[in-house]
Amino acid sequence: MQDSPIQEIKDKLPILTVVQDFVQLKKAGSNYKGVCPFHSEKTPSFMVSPSKQIWHCFGCGLGGDIFEFIKRTENVEFNDALKILADRAGVELRKPTPEQIQYQATKDVLYEINAAASKYFVKVLWESNAGAEALTYLRGRGLSDPTIKNWKLGFAPAEFHYLETFLSKIFEPRDIETAGLIVKSDRGGYFDRFHDRVMFPILNLHGQVVGFTGRILHERHNTGKYVNSPETPIYNKSQVVYGLQQGKNQIRKLDQAIVVEGNMDVIACHQVGFTQTVATSGTALTSDQLTIIQRFTNNLVFAFDTDEAGSSATRRALELALNQGFNVKIANLGTTKDPDELIKRGIGLWEKVINGASNYVDFFFDRIFQQYDAQKVDDKREIVKELAPLIYRVSDPITKAHYVRKLSQDINVAENSIWDIIQGLDKPIIRNTKPVTRNNKTRKEVLTDQVLGLSLLLKDNQYLEGLDLTLPQESDKKELLVFAAEMAMKEQGLDGKQELPKLAVELKRLVTKERMMELGQEIKAAEDANDKELLDKLSKEYAALSQIVKN
Ligand SMILES: [Zn+2]
Repeated sequence: MQDSPIQEIKDKLPILTVVQDFVQLKKAGSNYKGVCPFHSEKTPSFMVSPSKQIWHCFGCGLGGDIFEFIKRTENVEFNDALKILADRAGVELRKPTPEQIQYQATKDVLYEINAAASKYFVKVLWESNAGAEALTYLRGRGLSDPTIKNWKLGFAPAEFHYLETFLSKIFEPRDIETAGLIVKSDRGGYFDRFHDRVMFPILNLHGQVVGFTGRILHERHNTGKYVNSPETPIYNKSQVVYGLQQGKNQIRKLDQAIVVEGNMDVIACHQVGFTQTVATSGTALTSDQLTIIQRFTNNLVFAFDTDEAGSSATRRALELALNQGFNVKIANLGTTKDPDELIKRGIGLWEKVINGASNYVDFFFDRIFQQYDAQKVDDKREIVKELAPLIYRVSDPITKAHYVRKLSQDINVAENSIWDIIQGLDKPIIRNTKPVTRNNKTRKEVLTDQVLGLSLLLKDNQYLEGLDLTLPQESDKKELLVFAAEMAMKEQGLDGKQELPKLAVELKRLVTKERMMELGQEIKAAEDANDKELLDKLSKEYAALSQIVKN
């Protein structure tokens, strides 16, 4: 296949644009530098070359072009990465398979329908009599006009066929139904899913509308306060995080995400400058959503509603997040219902709550001691039952000891008994079985890349033969190897000419040792099989290799 669409996409999507969605970059000479999104690090070793349109991390050894980058960040195969970037670049891919055409056509139409619906809802909100009341409602909730516009809030009028009539001029009813915007009636016709609702479009990380949350404007008995789009080929509820598209850069910058419950909370927080705020949309926080947030930060502040649902949501979300390796703090909203309400009472109050968010164990200590009477025996048992699993999860031994002592003092029970209970607890279940894509390169792979890169850079191939290495044919692979080698040398202040022989020796030793390990197994097998001839041959090879390692 010709590379033309690939080149066309690269021309239209500068690498900085693609990478900056995920990594905060700083200029470093003619290149850019940032903290690698693929391995955990404090000092940046992730480099981007705008002129060569490639990236490379000399921490984990990964690197490539924009397609390789999207493959890693989105955890997809090349074909899907190609699709994602082609969509974004507005480049039409030639010669996809008929299945791809069908699947993509369906998705494209769904994106178009959602985009059209979103525009329609916005227009109704701002330009119709029906929308005026909804607009008054939103302003009454404290949202400024720019905020309402930025979040593309809209209104679905209290009619049953407005949207259907509007969209079916352009789209097939069947497709509009698949997009979840109209519903088939018993009599065979269609009607609008959303009526008399303030509409919140839900965006994916590329800024495309994938669905809606509709909030009722006039409370009615027979219908829910919120209605969401159903799951569709472009909308997977458990994988969408509301506000993340708008907040992701700030989240990475501050290395913190505030997680709230409602869409209105997210918007209210963003309006007052807390743009690192996100919410789960129509679901409890899921493991997939956490995995997506984890691309941007490992630090969460939960600011859930204070009602009972909020409290059990906090506990569940906490467990999931801890299982996934997040650092979690919990904001104490006190008697205020939700973040939106607290912000209305004063930005300063909200700021104080977020900055004062406490470690999750402290939060639950306070909460649980309010619920139980620490003097009563039965209550003591309940208190321990609630707190022991949380203390158990604290990984730092000093912190853990601190909480055990605190608990022992607070309920006046010997520390030893509490230690016994904590140590008797089962290991927490790790629910997140899907590992975050990290696949760092092995030392051997990194060395191989460096030897190849330096050989190319210095135009010196003398070390390749002894290592059984061949240079790649493709020019883009060569370019990446050279870039990676150049960067690695520069970063460490080393001279490539001096390093190449050293790296070649290290690689040779590593390869030899690996082969010796294998040989060890083979020799044992030959001994077991009593194959003298093979044993002799293998032993000779082993001796020769150990000689190489010695030298
Ligand atoms: Zn890395």
